Amino acid sequence: MAPVSTQPRRELPILEQAAAVAAPGTNAPDAPDAHAPNPHEPYARAVARIAPHGASGPALDTLGRRLHDLRISVTDRCNFRCVYCMPKEIFGKDFAFLPRDQVLSFEEIERLARIFVGMGVEKLRITGGEPLVRRELPDLIEGLAQIRRPDGGPVDLTLTTNGAALRSLAQPLRDAGLQRITISLDSLDPDVFGAMNGVDFPVSRVLEGIAAARDAGLAPIKINTVIRRDLNEASILPMARWARDEGLILRFIEYMDVGHSNGWRMDDVIPEAEIVARIDAEMPLEAMAPNYAGEVATRWRYVDGSGEVGVIASVSEPFCSSCTRARLSAEGKLYTCLFAVAGHDLRALLRSDRTDDQIEAAVRGVWRLRDDRYSDLRTESTTALPKVEMFAMGG
Ligand code: SAM
Repeated sequence: MAPVSTQPRRELPILEQAAAVAAPGTNAPDAPDAHAPNPHEPYARAVARIAPHGASGPALDTLGRRLHDLRISVTDRCNFRCVYCMPKEIFGKDFAFLPRDQVLSFEEIERLARIFVGMGVEKLRITGGEPLVRRELPDLIEGLAQIRRPDGGPVDLTLTTNGAALRSLAQPLRDAGLQRITISLDSLDPDVFGAMNGVDFPVSRVLEGIAAARDAGLAPIKINTVIRRDLNEASILPMARWARDEGLILRFIEYMDVGHSNGWRMDDVIPEAEIVARIDAEMPLEAMAPNYAGEVATRWRYVDGSGEVGVIASVSEPFCSSCTRARLSAEGKLYTCLFAVAGHDLRALLRSDRTDDQIEAAVRGVWRLRDDRYSDLRTESTTALPKVEMFAMGG
């Protein structure tokens, strides 16, 4: 059987989009350029029309949303096969991950991160696939931690991991400049956890990773728990009790129709209201204000003052109107929505002779055209769209 590929079926041509913004109604690149041997040849002229070099100020999309967060995937590989993300029946031994030369180098990632921060991005989240399987990851963290915003302040640098390799990597990551961390953990029950991660990975090892993160001084530590009906719904209360007792910030995530391989059904989603009601029945909760405008999780405080819990309710309470996130895949594609079917190739620009200003102008052009609001528009039929898998895009 031929190996399955992570390559999205389609790629959006930045150039054509940029040109469309530059000159509405006259959005095709000049005819001779359309036949130029280098497909990116018209780029410099197109961006010069949309965003003269030196263009500054926050990048706003068609819905007035600012580009504020960049999620950077450092690999499409993962050592887990979570049933809701990368089911092992589909992503088995024959699966063709990206070849090394197609994955962005640390230098390329850092260059792009600097460009994004220069445009107003304030938060960088390293993700994957599983980011800790990328070799020498602390070297990348060290470079990213030195980036400064235009006002001279540090960027908010964090990382999302399944925690499998955290026991040995927590301290090196902290020493390299990582400030805080999010660890995914779907159950404390070894059988449930083993079944959900698809490789029978022991929960005890993730708990050791969390302890190592704490010992290393990473703070705050957040825990992500995806809840899928009939799979780990019995873990809601034990997870809530444990996180509260441990002083960890727990975020339940509604099961989402990311990608197109997890067999998502609306019936499998336990909505926020139900998650909160189940916790509230044992440990009374009250709503909290968000930490900042556009915070993805809704926050709930335990009435007895013992901590808080949150829910990321992308299905039952979509937050598209405040979505300020862009995603950079391991192969250098820029995605403007977690549910996208195609991305924009920044690697081609990086590996050509484009200047930072030209790349910034291309990103601004893409962002300015952004009108994604998938979760607002979700129906049973949108679920069938050939969306890019979350591990390929960057979760
Ligand atoms: N490997 C890392 C990890 O496990 O955290 C980073 C990548 S993972 C794709 C990022 C987050 O997406 C994890 O917390 C994971 O549980 C969540 N996720 C993946 N598929 C999901 C789905 N179908 N619905 C909701 N969350 C999902």
